[in-house]
Amino acid sequence: MNINANYDNLEQSYLFSTIAKKVNEYINNNPDKKVIRLGIGDVTLPLCKAVTDALHKAVDEMGVQSTFRGYGPEQGYDFLREAVQGYYKKHSVNLELDEIFISDGAKSDLGNILDLFDTNNTVLVPDPVYPVYVDTNIMAGRKVNFINANAENEFLPGVKDIDKNVGADIIYICSPNNPTGAVYNKTQLKEWVDYALEKKAVILFDSAYECFISDPELPRSIYEIEGAKNCAIEFCSLSKTAGFTGTRCGYTIVPMNLGKLNKMWVRRQTTKFNGVPYIVQRGAEAVFTEEGQKEIGLNIAYYKNNAKLISDTLNECGIKHVGGKHSPYIWLKCPNNMKSWEFFDYLLNNAQIVGTPGAGFGKNGEGYFRLTSFGSTENTKEAMERLKKLFKS
Ligand code: PLP
Repeated sequence: MNINANYDNLEQSYLFSTIAKKVNEYINNNPDKKVIRLGIGDVTLPLCKAVTDALHKAVDEMGVQSTFRGYGPEQGYDFLREAVQGYYKKHSVNLELDEIFISDGAKSDLGNILDLFDTNNTVLVPDPVYPVYVDTNIMAGRKVNFINANAENEFLPGVKDIDKNVGADIIYICSPNNPTGAVYNKTQLKEWVDYALEKKAVILFDSAYECFISDPELPRSIYEIEGAKNCAIEFCSLSKTAGFTGTRCGYTIVPMNLGKLNKMWVRRQTTKFNGVPYIVQRGAEAVFTEEGQKEIGLNIAYYKNNAKLISDTLNECGIKHVGGKHSPYIWLKCPNNMKSWEFFDYLLNNAQIVGTPGAGFGKNGEGYFRLTSFGSTENTKEAMERLKKLFKS
């Protein structure tokens, strides 16, 4: 037996364990101080009533002979695929049911999709980045090339930023972005679509945060861009949309126009996946009902209000940042040219606020810092008052 030696090429990530260690140490030494965590990437509000009602009903069905269900279709039940189809239609995107695959979340499918591609393909990933894109490719032995996301391109790298010597068969785009919160507009995305079509590359478009977009001019799906159905696979999730981080449900779109890829994905899924639980899919279906949309809308508005509080405070303090408008993430330039970890320690020691050092997301993250809006409004307000005391002149 030989192990997959590619795992040796993975960089150890100490980001969240180092944060936890530093915070625990601080709390032990300062038990009287209230620490506020604005580094959380998980939602905090509970599932909405429309969803829990649907979950309860589905649980009851499973306990009755006539409505019990065993294995379901690997691609998901039609009732949920139709609900997703209807959701896309609202944004003027027409999808066939066979292009929609229900998943147990975006993370799994972002990794699983790589089964369809040759290991010799080159991969283009923005830096800073959601680490899953990089690590899943390294595990498979693929070469990863980076494209710089920085202040000059407002953290939205474009085709012009690609290093001429670098190939790109598989291109990752995440918009609204984690960690930066930056969002591509239609013109910018069109450039990527045209580039992928020209190079016969595939775009893996991560739209896990699409629900935070409130400007109708900004694309929530890459399929709002002409030509995208010929070059892009889209991954979405109910995790942040509807608080499904622990419940687990998402969807992946593999268009028919992508040659064999749709059929290959069906083959892959029917071989390696047995579907998302019926109960969860009923809960997910409820997200797309009128009631569900209204209720999750309130939760999203709550997080967006927190993001606005953070962004407004940073403006008052003259701290440069992107994100926070159509995203739960705020990506700020550390004041006084501090490095990411220096600022982390400074904020923890002087304001008892915990965020995430940008350096943990890639080399271009050095000197930056990520705050999130997933905390409570009360804590976010208190944290912002503390920030003002430190930085507002
Ligand atoms: N994509 C991005 C950019 C994310 O930030 C996350 C979660 O934090 C995911 C995907 C994973 O989502 P899911 O919970 O659906 O696996």
